[in-house]
Amino acid sequence: MPNAVEPPVASPSSLQDAYALLAKGGYRPIAGGTDLMVQLTGEIGEPPERVLDISRLDRLRGIERNAGWLVIGALTTYTELRRSPLIAELLPALAEAAATIGAAQIQQRGTLGGNIANASPAGDTLPILLATDARIVVGSGRQERTIPATEFWIGYRTTARADDELVLRVEVPLVSDRRVRFRKIGTRRAQAISKVVMALSWSADGRAGAWRNVRLALGSVAERPIRAWETEAILEGARPDEETAERAVAALAAEIHPIDDVRSTAEYRRAVATRVLHRLIREEGSR
Ligand SMILES: Cc1cc2nc3c(=O)[nH]c(=O)nc-3n(C[C@H](O)[C@H](O)[C@H](O)COP(=O)(O)OP(=O)(O)OC[C@H]3O[C@@H](n4cnc5c(N)ncnc54)[C@H](O)[C@@H]3O)c2cc1C
Repeated sequence: MPNAVEPPVASPSSLQDAYALLAKGGYRPIAGGTDLMVQLTGEIGEPPERVLDISRLDRLRGIERNAGWLVIGALTTYTELRRSPLIAELLPALAEAAATIGAAQIQQRGTLGGNIANASPAGDTLPILLATDARIVVGSGRQERTIPATEFWIGYRTTARADDELVLRVEVPLVSDRRVRFRKIGTRRAQAISKVVMALSWSADGRAGAWRNVRLALGSVAERPIRAWETEAILEGARPDEETAERAVAALAAEIHPIDDVRSTAEYRRAVATRVLHRLIREEGSR
């Protein structure tokens, strides 16, 4: 057991103070701590030198509708997502995803901003953010900037966020006829890291029944959460029938590059990802 030394903790109550501390370097933000606390002993990953407790930054809280956007503060917990009437109305797939994360204890503490910044390829909310064209707002003493979700997770546990930036909020564009489906495959119903996680969104094209604006995003099948662009191209303009499902599955099998690890094999992940997609398409076709 490594001889862990408790890192010093700062708990600013204003964003400006938080930014000033981050600019000094050496500080790692802590929100719910469900990922970071595991690293404090040094047994998993590099323990932080100093910890910046962001829980008093009230500007990072809240869920609201702002013109054509659903705006979710970075400190929003999974329990808050599950209980929010606004999420239930505007993006129920996110409440569904929140309900699959860890179990009640983790959902009470863990935050959406933490899931985003932690950047695990298995982060369960991330495919939903990719599939809904969400954007992530980050801030530092220098500026606030908005990063499309598609440009945020750039490599294995690597993001477009600089070390002195905080994730402030997520903005999801509201599209009136958009449908979003979410599926997570894990070993158990709770406390299970995803073997495959998928979000699919589309708009139904009236009488023709064809899908438009299709977005397909997956986690745990590559080094980072990804959009499956080639599979989307197959689905775009197609009707959700057996033939479409077969073509989409062939495209997806070629497009994803899962790995073997302690949770699953690459072969299993590929088989499950394609079967889940096949079933989602057929379910929608039979409605
Ligand atoms: C038992 C257990 C089960 C879990 N199950 C799941 C699961 O099913 N699905 C899943 O996706 N995850 C799961 N997790 C991982 C974790 O709970 C989530 O990733 C959670 O969202 C992390 O949020 P947090 O607020 O606790 O982050 P923290 O631990 O506080 O921080 C995580 C990382 O993000 C950074 N960070 C946090 N907030 C910000 C911010 N606003 N700006 C900049 N950087 C920030 C921190 O510096 C740190 O690097 C599990 C963890 C445990 C311990």
